[in-house]
Amino acid sequence: MSEPIPVKIVEVAEPTHKKKAASSDQQIFTRSFTGLYRNLRLGGAGFLFLLFFATAWLEWGGRQAVLWDLAESKFHIFGATFWPQDFILLSALLIICAFGLFAITVFAGRVWCGYTCPQSTWTWLFMWCEKVSEGDRNQRMKLDKAPWGPNKLARRALKHSLWLAISLLTGLTFVGYFTPIRPLAEELFTLQAGGVSLFWILFFTGATYINAGWLREAVCMHMCPYARFQSVMFDKDTLAVAYDPRRGENRGARKKDQDYKAAGLGDCIDCTMCVQVCPTGIDIRDGLQMECIGCAACIDACDSIMDKMNYPRGLIGYKSEHSLQGGRTHWLRPRLLGYVTVLVVMIGALVIALHERPMLSMDVIKDRGLFRENARGQIENIYMLKVINKTQVAQNYQLRLLDAEGFELHGQTYFSVPAGEMAELPVSVAMLGERATSSSQELDFELVDSDEPAIRAVARSRFVAPLNR
Ligand code: SF4
Ligand code: SF4
Repeated sequence: MSEPIPVKIVEVAEPTHKKKAASSDQQIFTRSFTGLYRNLRLGGAGFLFLLFFATAWLEWGGRQAVLWDLAESKFHIFGATFWPQDFILLSALLIICAFGLFAITVFAGRVWCGYTCPQSTWTWLFMWCEKVSEGDRNQRMKLDKAPWGPNKLARRALKHSLWLAISLLTGLTFVGYFTPIRPLAEELFTLQAGGVSLFWILFFTGATYINAGWLREAVCMHMCPYARFQSVMFDKDTLAVAYDPRRGENRGARKKDQDYKAAGLGDCIDCTMCVQVCPTGIDIRDGLQMECIGCAACIDACDSIMDKMNYPRGLIGYKSEHSLQGGRTHWLRPRLLGYVTVLVVMIGALVIALHERPMLSMDVIKDRGLFRENARGQIENIYMLKVINKTQVAQNYQLRLLDAEGFELHGQTYFSVPAGEMAELPVSVAMLGERATSSSQELDFELVDSDEPAIRAVARSRFVAPLNR
C-alpha cells in the first residue's frame, strides 16, 4: 500500500508574488471567476440547494414527504415509514456514506469539500451575496478601507440582510424536517412560533450566519475533523489540485509573444490570479496545503491565463504525486479497490435489507403484576401488544396464540391499524387447567394480516402461574 503523502509535496522556489497566503487574522477578498470547475460547482450546489430547500415542502400521500417525527419516533420518507426498530438501516446508510467518502477521497482528494460540503456551498452563496451588494474584489477592498458613510452603510446593510434572510430560510428548512414545515412557517411569519421550534430555528439561523458569513475557511482549517484526517488517506496516485512546478518554474512576468523559455522562464507568469480567487487565501504554488479545500477555483483562473498567453492549459490541475514527478497515475490500486468493493457489497446488502424489511412488527409487553385470578376462577396474565403497520394502507389483523394448548386468549383478536401507525392493544391469556405444570412457560403470539397472510409477526412472552393452589 502506498505511503500517505506529506502535507507539503511540492518543492518550489521562494515565491515572488506579493500576496502570501492569508493568515487567519487577515481578511480574504476573493476574486470571482468563471470556468469549467466553477460551473460544476454551481451545478452541484444548485442541485443540493434545490434538494434541501424544496424537499421539505413536498407532500406525499397526504403528509410531508420527508419528515423525522421526533415526537412519535417515526421517519417518513416518500410514503415509507421507518420506526426505531429500522434504524439499523439508517446506521448502514451512514456507514455507506462514510465508505463513499473514503473512496472518493482516495481517488480525488477533497472533492467533497470543494463541491458539496454544506460549509463550502453556503460560503459560496454568501460570497455571491457579497459580490451583489458590495461589488467585485477591488470594490470590496476599497469599501473596506473607506470611512463609514451612507454608501458603505447601505451596502453593508444589504449584505447582512441577504445573509440573514438565507440563514433564516436555512434554519426554518432544517427544523422543518423535524416539525411539519407548513404550519411551522406560518407560525414563524405570523410571529406565533415559540418554544423549542423557535429556539432551534434561531440557533440554526445564527450558526449559518456565523459559519458561512464570518468563519468561512476557519471552519475548514480549525474545526472540521475531515480536514485533519483526509491527508492520511491520500496516496501517491490520489488526484489533488496541484501546481506543476516542473512546467511553471521559473515563474516571472514576460511579454505575450516573448521567447520566455530562452529567457529561462517557465509557464507561470506570476500573475497571482490563482491566489486572488482562492477562498482560503493560499498560494497553491507552495504545494499541497491543509487549507486547500479542493474547490478548483485556481484551476479555472490559471487555465484562463494560459488561454490568454496561448500556452497549454493544466499548469494547475488535478494531478497525482506520481504525475507531478513525471510518472504515471495508477488508477486501480488496492486501497481504492478495497473501498469500492466494501461500498458495493454494503449497498447491495442495504437494498436487500430494505426489500426484505418486515411490514408488520409486534412487541408483547407483560404486565408487571405476575398473575391474577379472573371472575371464572382461572389464572390470568395481562399483556400489552404494540403493533406497527409499516405499509401505506390500513390493515386488518388477526391475533392468536401459537401451540398454546390449555390457554385461552381474551380481548380484541380482530382489529385494524391505520397506514404507518402504531396501535396498543391490551389482551389477557387465561390458563384453562386447574394446575400449572410449570411456574413460568413461554407463550408465542402470532399476528396475521387478514388480507395478506404472508404478512405476519410472531412475538414471544411468558405466562406465569402458581404451581400449587
Ligand atoms: S494563475 Fe497560473 S500563471 Fe498566474 S500565478 Fe497562478 S500559476 Fe502562475
Ligand atoms: S488552492 Fe485552489 S483548490 Fe485549493 S482552496 Fe485555493 S482555489 Fe481552491
